[in-house]
Amino acid sequence: MQAAYEVSRVALVGAGPGHPGLITLRGIECLQQAEFVLYDRLVSERILAYAPETAERKCVEELGPCHAARLPLIQQTLIDQARQGRRVVRLKGGDPMIFGRGGEEAQALCEAGLAFEIVPGVTAALGIASCAGFPLTHRQHASAVALVTGHEQPEKSDSLLDWSALARFPGTLVFYMGLARLEQLVGSLIEQGKPANTPAAVVERGTTSRQRTLTATLEQLPRTAMEAGVQAPALIVIGSIVSLREQMRWFESRPLFGKRVLVTRPRDQCQDMVQRIEALGGEALVLPTVQISPPNDWSLVDQAIRQLANFDWVVFTSVNGVRYFFDRLRHLGRDLRALGHCQLAVIGTATAEALRKFHLQPDLLPEQFNSESLAAALLPRVGGKRLLLARADRGLELLREELSQVASVTQVAVYSQHDATLESDHELLLAMQQGEIDFISLTSSNIALALLRQLPSESRRWIEQGRTKLVSISPRTSAAIRSTGLPVAGEASEYTTEGVLKAMCELAQA
Ligand code: SAH
Repeated sequence: MQAAYEVSRVALVGAGPGHPGLITLRGIECLQQAEFVLYDRLVSERILAYAPETAERKCVEELGPCHAARLPLIQQTLIDQARQGRRVVRLKGGDPMIFGRGGEEAQALCEAGLAFEIVPGVTAALGIASCAGFPLTHRQHASAVALVTGHEQPEKSDSLLDWSALARFPGTLVFYMGLARLEQLVGSLIEQGKPANTPAAVVERGTTSRQRTLTATLEQLPRTAMEAGVQAPALIVIGSIVSLREQMRWFESRPLFGKRVLVTRPRDQCQDMVQRIEALGGEALVLPTVQISPPNDWSLVDQAIRQLANFDWVVFTSVNGVRYFFDRLRHLGRDLRALGHCQLAVIGTATAEALRKFHLQPDLLPEQFNSESLAAALLPRVGGKRLLLARADRGLELLREELSQVASVTQVAVYSQHDATLESDHELLLAMQQGEIDFISLTSSNIALALLRQLPSESRRWIEQGRTKLVSISPRTSAAIRSTGLPVAGEASEYTTEGVLKAMCELAQA
């Protein structure tokens, strides 16, 4: 019994079957407070990222190679960590209480007298039914569902499973961990009277962008699965509801389904793009290629901010420019009123949106989102005026040069941008070298150059051969890509991240 006011230190959290969006809100809350996370191998990086950077993360595989021998080590690790006073999250695939020995992990915590919490998750059967496109129950097809382990040998005398009852079960059968014994499992069901022509499916990596669904009659299923080379994790679904899939396969019909997309923006600025890619059915992998930081020297910025009264226009050419400028304004003890008399110009919709977050409406947003258009739109309006250009420490000089012809321009670097050394994310680099990335999104010329200059030669080859496609945000970014000798597969017609994704979807459908 948990003592009054005692807060549980351990949470067994279901991470869902694969898609990073299929974790519960409570699961995320637990992760956000975690100091130690022990996770199953297949849990998405995106879910692990909810834990604070300071939290220690350990994959259960680090506890030992042998699956069966790992349970006591997992139990002991949870107990030790909780006794050290840390907030512990045990992050498990699917639901913690469906197979996968979550029950036994919870029992060990009970026996150790530790308070714990169990956060349910979307179990594989539920995730897969939605994403492969068949209901598990249906008024005309199935009034019951059985979740069954396929891990037990059908011929085993002490098996807890009654194969004759399973063969007669009046509903849908879902087998977990059954791939390795698919043939015996199907054989036993048919032997016990299950019709050999019952519709059946095997679903590999369900709910992820790499989900594969193969359907066949029950009798044919082992052969179909073997010929297709299906690998774990896979679920076996048996029942007439499988035939409804043709009508309902929404998940696999999405434009970027099955595509792996490299997102190359700084990590804290790519969330929106990652979510859009996932909503289009793709898998987003993040590899930041430029780093953003405060400028080395604030003195010119501070001087400009203190003299804002002298400026007629303030021009922002990026979201970062807006963010750093206003942070500094606040740091200096000033507020929006310091800009009250200024006109504001921005380069594109994202920058406009960043301004609106400060309750400021841009006075000028050019039709095309590039420096040339911004200069052309400003030129007729700023004759004789005083302009402040807030931008990065590197970039085009075009705006300053053009506008200086008619106005007095002060340019300040409100942030600094430099090339990042590519992270040593082993799996990601391997995927790039093996041609397993479909698209690389390049959302500025700096980003393009930073990545392409460091690209390993194997990855370059995949791009040259058209297996990995570079998709650029604008003609300027495309020119930067071509300057490295690599081909541009697609270019946004509107110079925004949405434009990049549209171009990508067109390439994916082509
Ligand atoms: N607790 C988990 C199940 C653990 S047992 C849950 O509730 O889902 C592991 C088995 O789950 C695998 O062998 C496989 O049969 C199934 N499984 C888990 N994730 C899956 C996925 N994304 N696609 C297909 N099967 C999956």
